[in-house]
Amino acid sequence: MLNATVWRGLLGLDRSVVVEMVEFDDDEDVVVAHVRPRKVKRAACGVCGRSSPAYDRGEGRRRWRSLDWGTIRVYLEADAPRVDCVEHGPTVRTVPWARHGAGHTRIFDEQVAWLATQCSKAAITELVRIAWRHVVSIVARVWADVEALHDRFAGLRRIGVDEISSKSGHRYLSVVVDHDSGALVWAAPGRDRATLGRFFDLLEASGEGRCAQITHVSGDGADWISAVVAQRCPNAVRCADPFHIVAWATEALDQVRREAWNAARGAITQRRAGRVHGHAKALKHARYALWKNPTNLNTYQRIKLDWIAKTEPRLWRAYLLKEGLRTVFQLGYDEATIALDHWISWARRCRIDAFVDLQRRIVKHRAAILAAIEHGLSNGRIESVNTKIRLITRIGFGFKSPDALIALAMLSLGGHRPTLPGRK
Ligand SMILES: [Zn+2]
Repeated sequence: MLNATVWRGLLGLDRSVVVEMVEFDDDEDVVVAHVRPRKVKRAACGVCGRSSPAYDRGEGRRRWRSLDWGTIRVYLEADAPRVDCVEHGPTVRTVPWARHGAGHTRIFDEQVAWLATQCSKAAITELVRIAWRHVVSIVARVWADVEALHDRFAGLRRIGVDEISSKSGHRYLSVVVDHDSGALVWAAPGRDRATLGRFFDLLEASGEGRCAQITHVSGDGADWISAVVAQRCPNAVRCADPFHIVAWATEALDQVRREAWNAARGAITQRRAGRVHGHAKALKHARYALWKNPTNLNTYQRIKLDWIAKTEPRLWRAYLLKEGLRTVFQLGYDEATIALDHWISWARRCRIDAFVDLQRRIVKHRAAILAAIEHGLSNGRIESVNTKIRLITRIGFGFKSPDALIALAMLSLGGHRPTLPGRK
């Protein structure tokens, strides 16, 4: 017979729990460990932890799924008596091995939460043999604990505000990223002044004067962000995230490419000439060559670009304008100031509507763009958080509630990420 220490070790329990018996349940093909909390004078309410007098036996014995032993599923089984809490009335007492109301043990929760931040929905449900909706509730309760335990706004100085849209474009999340740590600090459904206002309410509630301590705020230049920031932290330097600006240029370029493609296609219907058809098709497929940074182009894309330079002078100029703007962000502040103004006057005279419009937007945000360069806000960070949230939303927008998506995003990208149980 193994001793108590070994049983506890195998079940991931500490000295506050007594293992009474371990048996194999033939009907269900599972191991069941009968346990009980070590004797305490009065048990505590499962909701608030206040020690309270006993009430009744509750609904008798309960089982909690724990981590597998090899290929065998393991359950803890124990009485679940109720206590009479002054605040919550008759409530099931707290147990050391599981969160209140959960059907899984804490170590099981930790493992699933970690997996949810690391692998696909299919991989988790297959590996741990639970339904996806259980994964969703585990993620939510683990995040609730992390949120209650840690002050995620401590020392927040330089933040980036952004919005993420679902694939269908009907649902939005507003997010706030810490530029210094690269962590996601807050997310909420919606993209308007009231939503962002709630972030600042929460920040101020977490410690007085914290809004005033924000020194830099970056964003995509949207008016709703600027308005709230101006009101809540008026002294913060407002910056434009370079990757949003470059994205605007990429959109403008794509518009020019589509115009060239439509013109070429129009030529087909008129002439029905095979040669022209090839031209339109080539333009349609030129997208990636035009989008990518020149240093990342493969040989095929490089050839495509040379071809555009020879056959589509207007599209080629648009490409050079996009690249010119991207280059501004790779320069030091002084050079960038000169280069940006050169770019503005070049774009103003370029006679390509999409870029003339872009130039107007750039002029509007000129100060914020230069501030981002001057203060060296780590653009790579907010961009990478942005990309990762988009990946999470691919699973997450399938969730019924945005809270589950936010919990998963916070656990995956926040400052306090889940670790595997039993690891130091
Ligand atoms: Zn209570």
